[in-house]
Amino acid sequence: MRRALVLAALASCAPARGGGHVAAWISDTRSYGAAPTPHETPADRYRATATRIITVATADRGAYTKLAQLTDRIGHRLSGSPELVRAIAWAAQAMKDDGHDVRTEKVMVPHWVRGAEDASIVAPQPRALHVIGLGGTVPTPKGGVTAPIVVIHDFAELDARAAAVNGSIVLYDVPMPAWTADRGNAGYGEAVPYRSRGPSRAAKLGAVAVLMRSVTAHSLTTLHTGALSYDPEQPKIPAAAVTVEDSALLARLAAAGPVSVRLHLESQTLPDAESANVIGELRGRDKPDEIVVLGAHLDSWDVGQGAHDDGAGCVTMMQAITVLKQLGLQPRRTIRVVLFTNEENGVRGAKAYAKEHEAELAHTVLAVESDGGGFSPRGFSVDATPQTSARVVGRLAEIAALLEPLGAARVVAGHSGTDVEPMLAGGVPTLGLDSNNRTYFDIHHTDADTLDKVDPAELAAAVAAIAVLAYVVADLPDRVDHP
Ligand code: ZN
Ligand code: ZN
Repeated sequence: MRRALVLAALASCAPARGGGHVAAWISDTRSYGAAPTPHETPADRYRATATRIITVATADRGAYTKLAQLTDRIGHRLSGSPELVRAIAWAAQAMKDDGHDVRTEKVMVPHWVRGAEDASIVAPQPRALHVIGLGGTVPTPKGGVTAPIVVIHDFAELDARAAAVNGSIVLYDVPMPAWTADRGNAGYGEAVPYRSRGPSRAAKLGAVAVLMRSVTAHSLTTLHTGALSYDPEQPKIPAAAVTVEDSALLARLAAAGPVSVRLHLESQTLPDAESANVIGELRGRDKPDEIVVLGAHLDSWDVGQGAHDDGAGCVTMMQAITVLKQLGLQPRRTIRVVLFTNEENGVRGAKAYAKEHEAELAHTVLAVESDGGGFSPRGFSVDATPQTSARVVGRLAEIAALLEPLGAARVVAGHSGTDVEPMLAGGVPTLGLDSNNRTYFDIHHTDADTLDKVDPAELAAAVAAIAVLAYVVADLPDRVDHP
């Protein structure tokens, strides 16, 4: 189905693309505001400009330089941390230094803090386990909790083994399917419900704690954290991730006989902290009140450097408008970079933005998000209402044809991103940057999400793709979301 959409969308713009380079150049350099000639596609109209943007953006290393400052000089940035406060000030200053209109908008965010944490096998033979608390977990009782484990592979099995679960530590040993060219990282969505809802599902049946296999398809003894979501109707029980290797060990031991584990977590939840969304704009020359949003999240988990998740997305959006400014390209509409706070454990920034800018949503032409790592781009996934989805996919596929030199012309219907979702609910078509991110979930939410995993040329290609797409959508005479 998704394939069929792509092919149909690409086919619809293919015949017009043979229109000749000279004609494309002339149409592209004529005076602003001129109407398109009949049968002219966006790709015809903007090919020369797109070539200029791609040439400059792929040679530019500004995004990587920014990412190095954010990761090596500030580090990871959990909501409520002093590092996130510094990151907000840094991002605002960096966009001011690039000549953009900048402001911050206050948002209150959850303030969860990790403490000491450890776990071990008590029986059949003592052995330490690698462990990391899930974001938002309650602490264990002082001294930890010790109980037999019950290994669970899916929620149906959990319910079927309710009697055994009562009084035990549930281990969700659920593998994440690996990246494929066709499905991308859709496997994440299959494994992650055990992290978000698994603790309360187990608590409902009387479990005293939850352990889970880290959400990743590949592991070199890597611990992956991430948010859990407590059901307010159930007791809150402590929950933590173990490595794929330790999860497999526990499952093997449990298949042979009883296994007892001790878990100790000292996390705490403090009062909400003050934070902010950071907004930087390239103002439109003709219709400044119509907006194309470029979004990413500035917060991260409290491990690694948040380099791919989502420092890379932030600097991609920041540099995209900087490259356009350096080229003297001021589109018809405003391009607004929004660096959201608190995506990881609350989505408060995105919710606050959609609420505070509710009156602007009708004038928001498109909202784009990058939150899949700073890898070479391969296209976009479009989320829109069922009524407009096929049309928006078609329009954007025409524009994305300009990204063929980057290998990023693939446009499909699908999930866009967590931070633009509240705008989608307000009727704005949303778009997720899709990349060649097969290794993303190897390092996602781990100590290994560091700058050395980011390739400067791939990051620059993502900047080029976003800059071209945002410029064309912001400059077209008509809105991509209107018939
Ligand atoms: Zn993210
Ligand atoms: Zn994340």
